[in-house]
Amino acid sequence: DVIQEERLKYLADTPGIKAVTVLFSDLEGRLHMLDYDKKFLIKSYDNLTFDGSSIRGFTAQRESDLRLGLDWSAFYWTPADVFGSGKVLVFGEVIDKNGGHYSGDLRGVLKSFATEQFEKNGYTLNAANEIEGFLFDGIDAERTFHETGKFEYVNQGGYYHSLPGDPLREFIDTTAEVQRAMGFENEKDHPEVAPSQFEINYSYGDVVAAADQIQLYKLICRQVATQMGMTASFLPKPVTGVNGSGMHTNVSITNKSGKNLFWDPKGEEKVSKFAWGFVDKILTHGNDLCLLLNASVNAYRRLDPHFEAPNQIKASATDRGSMVRIPIGNEKSARVEVRSVGPDANPYMVLYSIFKSGLQGNTSKIKNLRQAERYLPDNIYTALEDFRNAEWTTELLGEDVKARYADLKQASADRCARLLGTIVKPSEIQFHHDVY
Ligand code: GLN
Ligand code: MG
Ligand code: MG
Ligand code: MG
Repeated sequence: DVIQEERLKYLADTPGIKAVTVLFSDLEGRLHMLDYDKKFLIKSYDNLTFDGSSIRGFTAQRESDLRLGLDWSAFYWTPADVFGSGKVLVFGEVIDKNGGHYSGDLRGVLKSFATEQFEKNGYTLNAANEIEGFLFDGIDAERTFHETGKFEYVNQGGYYHSLPGDPLREFIDTTAEVQRAMGFENEKDHPEVAPSQFEINYSYGDVVAAADQIQLYKLICRQVATQMGMTASFLPKPVTGVNGSGMHTNVSITNKSGKNLFWDPKGEEKVSKFAWGFVDKILTHGNDLCLLLNASVNAYRRLDPHFEAPNQIKASATDRGSMVRIPIGNEKSARVEVRSVGPDANPYMVLYSIFKSGLQGNTSKIKNLRQAERYLPDNIYTALEDFRNAEWTTELLGEDVKARYADLKQASADRCARLLGTIVKPSEIQFHHDVY
């Protein structure tokens, strides 16, 4: 492996680097980080093991030893003032006893899917995510919310609002600068519609890199916010009465010669029949996928068209209340935007399930599927039921991972319901205490 050789040599030859941070994510998408001393890593990179039983959604006790492989193509330099000096980041992949990608590590699942079925034949699956978040005053605001019952905005602005010395602006500027230093191709950034809300956009990439960048984006935001004595929150609906935070997921597919297969200037909304087929399959599986794209109790509070978030399983060029939108695009930027996704979902799971459903899912027999009046679940219990009952989710994840995922979500929904008291109906649950 050429890249591996190159990186190992680079590590060995660069005295400034002392340690390598390896990143991987659990079944729900929480990021885990392990630091390896550089000298140890260079010797032992092909024999890294860890205890999987302490990672949520991973193995049962009896098979707890898992191997950690390193994806050297996902290698990032980090600015010392934010991440500490002498470190680089590499994404890891969890390997099972038989040497394959471990089924609970969705990064590996996504990577196998994208490379073996598409990249090998010259197709690239592209994704660009628009990740919104809130900046709240105080470190660990998501946990202190539990005691105080509220979040403190750091400013009262709104869309595109910026004033000199504004803490939100300062946060956005610093975050964008760290992103650039880490190789993101930033495009634009701005305060979002709600007070203290932000969005920073960067260029699309292939699915695995795009999902890694979602994890890095949130990590960077949290790190920068903490340094400012604040909290970057990716709860989908932290405050009622104002816009929530989405993670609109824009997808397209290019072929060997770089042609965007979703573009067709003569097609409906200037996207191809192939793209519409993709959309129809996503809509067919709209209910099945909801628990994967809206993965927390709190996520369901966001799905309200009064706040520019979708609640309908339909596709539209303009209506922001629909799950799928076709933005105006050109030859390069033609794409499909899945708007229902919440920023606290597992990004690997999100991209895997969108692409696999769009490319290999079924098409519904419902007439006029794109306009039909169908609604997304309005609470996690309904989504859980849809997820469990769907044959498609078994095909997507396998029985074992499907069951583990559903159990984790069930447990967090029940915990939340208990915390809020038994008189509260599941659909009235406002806050997801099990935040991360
Ligand atoms: N915040 C909205 C959402 O929850 C999106 C608003 C926007 O980007 N214009 O999806
Ligand atoms: Mg946007
Ligand atoms: Mg936005
Ligand atoms: Mg958008």
